[in-house]
Amino acid sequence: MQHYQIEPIGYIQSPYKQKFAIPRQPRLIPEAKAKLIFNPTFNREEFVRGLDEFSHVWLLFRFHETADKGWSALVRPPRLGGNEKKGVFATRATFRPNAIGMSAVKLDGINYKNGQLSLELSGIDLLDGTPIIDIKPYLPYSDSLPDALGGFADDRPETELTVEFTPQAIAFCQAQSAFPELQGFISSVLKQDPRPAYKKTKEGIQQYGMTLHCFNIKWQIEGNCNIVLEITKQSA
Ligand code: SAM
Repeated sequence: MQHYQIEPIGYIQSPYKQKFAIPRQPRLIPEAKAKLIFNPTFNREEFVRGLDEFSHVWLLFRFHETADKGWSALVRPPRLGGNEKKGVFATRATFRPNAIGMSAVKLDGINYKNGQLSLELSGIDLLDGTPIIDIKPYLPYSDSLPDALGGFADDRPETELTVEFTPQAIAFCQAQSAFPELQGFISSVLKQDPRPAYKKTKEGIQQYGMTLHCFNIKWQIEGNCNIVLEITKQSA
């Protein structure tokens, strides 16, 4: 059997510093902005000549955080509450042979500054540091399939959670001039209920923490309401 070596073309700088809280698919949180930084072999403008004519791109990437943790033929999609098993090739599971993922994301800009080529992206579902193995333009005439069947993942996941902020959390967000969309971003992340399926059925108040950009965020869930309790900046 033939094996192949792949040289990543670049990597992602993302606000998502841990897997927890990343949406399950791209574009569910449009405020999630990221940069794709090109690696030295591909760090030339000619690699992206013409790409600015497209609004969206496909990213092919490696699930690098979990790639060494193996895979199995059957997985439990969170969409089915973690109770039912489906074949790995019938899912978008991260634990899969070759650990390759694909996401169609919005292309907001192309930069070549101080000798570094980068893409500005939004609506991403990728962890900080994710290695990118290829980029392709999204072709609406061929890639958009309105009549396609979505199987057990047919509809966009609906969220029922509301989000509230304590006065401290609001004041903190308003003071972050370098992150004008911070409050909206946190709100969108929490609305989609990032908890694992088995926690969603738990009764009572549950407290959680996550890091977005350089901010540590603590919140609690009471019924259907997320309350953002405290936000602090990580020390440099
Ligand atoms: N859109 C991609 C696809 O369909 O191949 C990814 C779908 S996968 C279900 C999305 C999840 O991958 C996210 O919720 C996050 O937990 C996880 N993830 C994102 N980047 C990752 C990385 N570099 N390594 C491991 N897991 C990652």
